[in-house]
Amino acid sequence: MKLSLVSYTKEPEITTAIAGKLCYSPHGYEGIKKSLDRKKTGKFLHTVIGMGHHSLIEHASYSFLIEGISRACTHQLVRHRIASYSQQSQRYVSEKHFDFVIPPTIEADKKIKQQFIEFMEKAQEIYNNLMKSGIPKEDARFILPNAVESKIFVTMNARELLHFFCKRLCLRSQWEIREMAEKMLELVKKVSPNIFSKAGPACVHGPCPEGKLTCGKIKQIREKYRK
Ligand SMILES: Cc1cc2nc3c(=O)[nH]c(=O)nc-3n(C[C@H](O)[C@H](O)[C@H](O)COP(=O)(O)OP(=O)(O)OC[C@H]3O[C@@H](n4cnc5c(N)ncnc54)[C@H](O)[C@@H]3O)c2cc1C
Repeated sequence: MKLSLVSYTKEPEITTAIAGKLCYSPHGYEGIKKSLDRKKTGKFLHTVIGMGHHSLIEHASYSFLIEGISRACTHQLVRHRIASYSQQSQRYVSEKHFDFVIPPTIEADKKIKQQFIEFMEKAQEIYNNLMKSGIPKEDARFILPNAVESKIFVTMNARELLHFFCKRLCLRSQWEIREMAEKMLELVKKVSPNIFSKAGPACVHGPCPEGKLTCGKIKQIREKYRK
């Protein structure tokens, strides 16, 4: 998986802090901007985000290009509705040399991995035969497995990203989308350390929502994200 942070709101923390200060200040843009330095911005953001004033961080958006992930993973990603997506199309782009993702459990077993690869090769062969027979790409793609690699461009604001991290950093979440969430968090933390300082799965902030299905590792997870 390759994940790039393509762009993000200029000065995301100053921008969201200006939006927040505006709520409590008699001043306009110039006055508010003058009153904010990096230290004050950080402190202010911790306070307002802690208070649950989350609409402020909707003013900061982050765009990622994700490559080398399975269609199984992109399908889960696009379930997050407060976001914008553009995905490489299987109607316009031929899959006559498709790459595929091998899950670690399959990778670990030589015999099963061999069967998996043989199945991918068979799918490729049938896809290519369908194409040669004049079947349009939009129909030939029906033979493609969930493992086929895809590319997707996604934009989320900071509020939705925090929600996404809450759901997808959970150990109960599927490994590939969890890996994606971990990489995304690493990148946004570099550019917005205060906004994402408390990002993590739900159990970092409260009880595990998974009930009986809990991973049972709350202590380790809390330690990991609170660091
Ligand atoms: C561990 C795990 C297991 C899962 N298993 C399954 C499964 O078996 N089957 C399955 O179908 N899905 C499954 N999902 C997907 C899950 O049901 C959600 O579709 C996905 O996590 C997106 O979450 P969301 O709806 O909260 O987020 P978003 O779509 O990102 O929305 C963010 C928030 O906005 C609000 N919101 C958005 N749209 C609406 C709306 N129309 N009405 C009211 N409020 C809205 C809600 O508060 C929502 O939490 C699973 C997810 C996880 C993390």
